[in-house]
Amino acid sequence: MICSECGGTLRETREPVVEEYRGERFSVSGIRHFVCDACGNYELLAEDADLLSEKIAAQYEERHKLLTPAEIRETRASLGMTQVEFEELLGVSSPTCSRWENGVVQQSKTVDRLIRVIAGVSGAREFLEQLGKVSTANYAAEIIPFIPPTRGGAHAVTPSFESTKEG
Ligand SMILES: [Zn+2]
Repeated sequence: MICSECGGTLRETREPVVEEYRGERFSVSGIRHFVCDACGNYELLAEDADLLSEKIAAQYEERHKLLTPAEIRETRASLGMTQVEFEELLGVSSPTCSRWENGVVQQSKTVDRLIRVIAGVSGAREFLEQLGKVSTANYAAEIIPFIPPTRGGAHAVTPSFESTKEG
């Protein structure tokens, strides 16, 4: 194989790979890859790239004590909520919850902590549900007219709201 960066020869190896993820460095060993000794570039086959991503996500999960995909599913189920309801409560788009629970996407530390608060702190869920209702009501009632400026100078910015589901 030829290096796509410099045209040098690639060498197959399983030396540790150091990659950055969410601003942190992770070293993963045992991943087959092809390294160019001339320029330092390395290349992976698609299946090995997937494996590398999985291992980095697992290290991140352990380092930050994140809930596992199964634990997210269990937590949501214990609250008696559907994925869509849980997404609305957390303020994330659909199908984010399904992606977390299937391990396709890893939740942020912020979301992880929010889930723990909802599950562990009495009244937290009700507070968020109330917050959702209030903001929906405001969006529906508050129509802000845009008045174009009559003189030169700074232009007003028209507020735009995403359509929010009722309930
Ligand atoms: Zn190279």
